[in-house]
Amino acid sequence: MEPEQQQQPPQELSKKAAKKEAAKADKLRRRQEAAAAATAASGVAGVSIDGPDPLAANYGDVPIADLQSKEVSGRVWTAVSALTDELKDRTVLIRGRAQTIRAVGSKMAFLMVRERGYTVQCVLTVAPDLVSARMVKYAAAISKESFVDIEGVVTVPPEPLKGTSQQVEVQVRTIHCVNRAATVLPINVEDAARSEVEIEKALEAGEQLVRVNQDTRLNYRVLDLRTPANQGIYRLECQVSNFFSQFLLNEDFVEIRTPKLTAGTSEGGAAVFKLEYKKQPACLAQSPQLHKQMAICGDFGRVFVVGPVFRAEDSYTHRHLCEFTGLDVEMEIKEHYSEVMDIVDRLFVEMFDKLKEKCQKELEAIGKQYPFKPLKYLRKTLRLTFEEGIQMLKDAGVEADPLGDLNTETERTLGKLVFEKYGTEFYILHRYPLAVRPFYTMPCPDNEAYSNSFDVFIRGEEIISGAQRVHVPELLESRATECGIDVKTISTYIDSFRYGAPPHGGFGVGLERVVMLFCALDNIRKTSLFPRDPRRLEP
Ligand code: ATP
Repeated sequence: MEPEQQQQPPQELSKKAAKKEAAKADKLRRRQEAAAAATAASGVAGVSIDGPDPLAANYGDVPIADLQSKEVSGRVWTAVSALTDELKDRTVLIRGRAQTIRAVGSKMAFLMVRERGYTVQCVLTVAPDLVSARMVKYAAAISKESFVDIEGVVTVPPEPLKGTSQQVEVQVRTIHCVNRAATVLPINVEDAARSEVEIEKALEAGEQLVRVNQDTRLNYRVLDLRTPANQGIYRLECQVSNFFSQFLLNEDFVEIRTPKLTAGTSEGGAAVFKLEYKKQPACLAQSPQLHKQMAICGDFGRVFVVGPVFRAEDSYTHRHLCEFTGLDVEMEIKEHYSEVMDIVDRLFVEMFDKLKEKCQKELEAIGKQYPFKPLKYLRKTLRLTFEEGIQMLKDAGVEADPLGDLNTETERTLGKLVFEKYGTEFYILHRYPLAVRPFYTMPCPDNEAYSNSFDVFIRGEEIISGAQRVHVPELLESRATECGIDVKTISTYIDSFRYGAPPHGGFGVGLERVVMLFCALDNIRKTSLFPRDPRRLEP
């Protein structure tokens, strides 16, 4: 046992000693004041400049070794999108990009943290034992678009927040930078996310905001893809493809995969990308047309394909790409190509309904940057014959060749006329002139100048081509020859029909076009993640 320490009675100081003590205290006070002034100037209050910060563990860069799958810590991250007032007063851990960083003096900083298009305001306020001024300084110096882990308490501000998607704030307790972005970025995500309306409004108010043009966006696509609108577009596109597949699977269709490397020059001499296949001439498939029909001859009854389609387009338009995603369907029919149009009708009405219901957030994000009116469509899709379409154009004083194809402008005009008359922006035009359809299209039984074919339009632009196909090999051969195709190059395809083939039909949809037109976007490059066009093969 240690001996008990005796408490000494306070000694009375002599006058001399008291004077000495007072001088000492004065010196100390002056030293402290000088130190405080120096630290205030350096932005670090309360601690000396060189000394360690007792809160140092609460901030800093995560060493690379800790990010090499070193351990499973069991920490739980909350998604930024899940930060709502239900989490008030709870401590959360989030990971996101530091979209904007703003220091207010040396004691406060605001970070807007973004994760997958959702944003939340994170606040650092100097407070004893929680946040040091050095921590604020550290946070304020993080470069934009860096990845940060933030732990903090969720609070609900009294006023609604304007600049963020989430209506809560996070009071930061720890902040660690996981990965730093370059300090100078080629494009600013905030600039890329701005709508034309905002830019114009600012211009009227005498302020010049940065406008990021389409090509620059595509050059730095990884940055451009981070905007809320782009996050919405590609999530919506995913759902279009998903609803397409789901609907067809429920209707007893089988998903198949068809080769993208094909012999010869594909379907019919159209613009294809030629290549050498082990010393044989070959090309990239311009559609899965021939193989999906062959799958019908192989008794699958109803098939669909989702995959890349290649067209060596020479035109540089707002709706043509050199590589796009084809959503293709082929099915046996019992007696009429209207059975194929019935599928189109039900599939798309259901898809549009579901997109409206399940993709509200995405549609909102897209509409914020690219304002558009929701698509108007009927419960039962309107079907007009090509002849009726021509008549409508004629009545409106627009000349169009009754046995030719419609050009982009006439298609748009017809779209407007149909909307005025029937109140729909989604409709089917069928019985096209045979001369403008591919060789495998079945002619009409009553008039060989027409065919059992159809196109489908959204807002006056084509998204689908479909038809009943010729399943009789002799007719197929003669139609191919009439269309100038060397039958030898497609002999395996034609032969498939010699062993017994059912009447059938199908259609092809362009995924990027559907999304572009559903959202009334002006360019297909906005709906292709990494577009390929006549001038672009990168990134
Ligand atoms: P368009 O007349 O617009 O050039 P198309 O008649 O050549 O189209 P199809 O070959 O029938 O079109 O292809 C079916 C669908 O594939 C089209 O309705 C469209 O949605 C899409 N599509 C066709 N070509 C392209 C392309 N170059 N880029 C993007 N999508 C395309």
